[in-house]
Order: sequence, then structure tokens, then C-alpha cells
Amino acid sequence: MRENMLTIGAFAKAARLSPKALRLYDELDLLKPGRVDPDTGYRYYAVAQLERARLVAWLRRLGMPLARIRQVCALRPADAAREIRAYWARVETETAARRDLAEFLVEELSAASVSRKDTTMLELRYCAHSDRGLVRPANQDTAYAGSRLLAVADGFGPTGHPASSAAIDALRILDTPEAPTGNVLNLLDDAVRGATDAVHDAVAGDGEDAGTTLTALLWTGSRLALVHIGDSRAYVLRGGGLFRITDDHTVVQSMIDEGRLTPEEAATHPQRMLLLKALTPTATPDLRLQDAEPGDRYLLCSDGLSRVIPDPQIRHLLTSTPTPDTAVHALIAAANEAGGPDNVSCVVADVVGPSAA
Ligand code: MG
Repeated sequence: MRENMLTIGAFAKAARLSPKALRLYDELDLLKPGRVDPDTGYRYYAVAQLERARLVAWLRRLGMPLARIRQVCALRPADAAREIRAYWARVETETAARRDLAEFLVEELSAASVSRKDTTMLELRYCAHSDRGLVRPANQDTAYAGSRLLAVADGFGPTGHPASSAAIDALRILDTPEAPTGNVLNLLDDAVRGATDAVHDAVAGDGEDAGTTLTALLWTGSRLALVHIGDSRAYVLRGGGLFRITDDHTVVQSMIDEGRLTPEEAATHPQRMLLLKALTPTATPDLRLQDAEPGDRYLLCSDGLSRVIPDPQIRHLLTSTPTPDTAVHALIAAANEAGGPDNVSCVVADVVGPSAA
């Protein structure tokens, strides 16, 4: 044996990997042995391969899938560093969505064991309006507000309007006396499934060229259950501060998260409108439960508002208008004063206590 070659056992020990793992990595072209004895089939590794083997071990410890490790290992260190950062940003995004779901489940199961009579019943005061804007030939957005449901859908493609209205129509059952009762998470999931099917039928023939976003809040009397997919947004104004409670599912937002793009570059990126996901059977919407407090003001809007009106101005308009109706119309007017490049839809809802009822 040549002097700088190690047996698979010795190499495995030095690389903190098992011989079994090394054989798997060989089969997957992740780490080929430096030499395979043609007679015995024994694998030998060069000392110089240790660096790569240990990188593989570290990436395994991060939980990176093998196919992605193979890509990272083929890169120069600076590019590999960027790839690892991008991978981790994705893990954190997915973990955050799972954390929200876990909290939702904990809340649901905890609430099931306490008497509903103890809950102070709050109410919503609401307004929804949708406007074509000044540039688009038609309005493909749909906005809805009722005593239990707030929703905005932004349709795109040739059948964008039928798509957004089908999504909202399918959810409206939640806002009727016939609404099913029970576990809010299941209720929302079933309604979203119905909406997804309705959108699928509405865009039949247009394939992936048409569809809709969906951002909706279901009122439970003390909390709001959020379902969200796409680049429409939900905000809450609380104690004078404006907080966004949704993430944009856009290609550029994922590039920002992964450190490939700055927010400034994203604002003028040619693909800034491109959605990462929309309401389709294969995409998973974000779900979370939001505790409501008297005095909260919620805003749902399509990107026709958020792309032209910066958050501080949205906050100002929400704080300086007395009612949901005046707020909605002030926001839409501001988007149109800024050029109205897209359809713009806003839903504003105030949480009020029993004394205000
Ligand atoms: Mg839009």
C-alpha cells in the first residue's frame, strides 16, 4: 500500500464517519475512495481526502440531504459557504412555520379543556374593499369581510378573477350559521382544501399560469386563526405599533432570506412579482393562531398596497383613521395616488370589547 493511503477503517476513524457511511458515500459519488484494490475490493483513502470527508460529516450533522452535500462539496469554499447559508435560511423558514403550527395545536388542545364561558367574547368591526387601480384592465383581486371571516385573494393569469373569487366563495361557509364547528385547525384546513379544489376548477386549462394567493383570518371569539399562502399580507396594529404576521411567499423573498439578494435589490428585481407558492393542491399554506386584544386593528391587503405604500405610511394611515371603513378607503386612495399600478384590496377589522357592542 502506498504510504499516504489509509484503510477504510483508519480513514473512517480519522474522519469521524463509520465505514458503512463511507461505503454509502462511495455509492452516491459523494466521496470516492482514492484507490480500490482490484483483487480484494478493499477501499483505500488518501490522507488528503480527510478534509472533504470531515466536511461531509459536518454537513450530515447539520441535517443537509446527501444530494445537496454533493453540490456543496463540488464548490469552492466561498461558494460552499453561500450554499450552506442558503440551506440554513430555508431550514429556519420551515422551522418557523412548524413552530407556528405547533403553537396552534397546543392552543387548540389547551382550549378544549377549559370552559368557553370564561372567555370574554370580543367582536369585530370590519370593512373590505377592492379597487382595480389605475393601470390594470380588470380587477382580479377579491376581498371579503364578515363577522367571522376576513379574506383577501389576489388572482393572476388569464382566469385570475375566477380563481380569487372561487377561493373566497369556498371560504364563506365559515361565515354562515351553517358553519361547521369544532377544532379550528381542522375547520380551516377543510375550508382551504375546498378553496383549493374550487380554484383548480376555476382555472381549468390555464395550468400553472393562473391561480390565486389567499390570506384569511377566521374569528373564534377571542382569537384569529390565520391561513396564508402567496404575497398578500396580514398586519396587526397594536399599541401604536404595526406588526406584519405573514411572510411573503415570493422568489425574491426567499433569495433575501438566503442572503443572495438585498431588500434594496429586491425592490427592482425583474422577477419580484414571481410567487414561490400559491393556492395549489401541492403547496402548504402557513397556519397560525393569533391572540386578539381589544383595540387591535387588523389589516389584510393584496400586494397592490404593500408594493407601493411603505409600512410606516400604512401604520400612519391605520392610526389616523377612526373606523375600518375610513381606513380601507384611505389606504386604497394612497395606493392610487402612488400610481395604482396593480389591483388593490384592503380589509380592516377592529377588535372591540363587549362594552362597545
Ligand atoms: Mg396583486
